[in-house]
Amino acid sequence: MKKLFLLVMASLIASSAALAERLPFPPPAQFDKPYAGKLTVQYVNPAEVNGVCRGGQAAGPFMQACTFVIPDRGECKIIMPKDTGVYSKQYLAALLKHENGHCNGWVH
Ligand SMILES: [Zn+2]
Repeated sequence: MKKLFLLVMASLIASSAALAERLPFPPPAQFDKPYAGKLTVQYVNPAEVNGVCRGGQAAGPFMQACTFVIPDRGECKIIMPKDTGVYSKQYLAALLKHENGHCNGWVH
């Protein structure tokens, strides 16, 4: 039986580098805390993030990162772009903070 994954999309920001530097918006304070469960962060090449996040599912806006939450197991997995110079370190930090908010149950 397939596990139920809750896929939370990252902010839908266009993939051009210029637009990418608009920082992902931060989670509200109640979701902006370390995840209490088992957190895994998988870093993939920036161009591959969208494919990994969508898992071959329907096309849509390019996803720069995504989060899979498995609530009944207390696990969260974040797919993040590797630091290859496509995004600034400040951007990547904001993105991880954003996705971590989703691990904590943030939906927007
Ligand atoms: Zn988001």
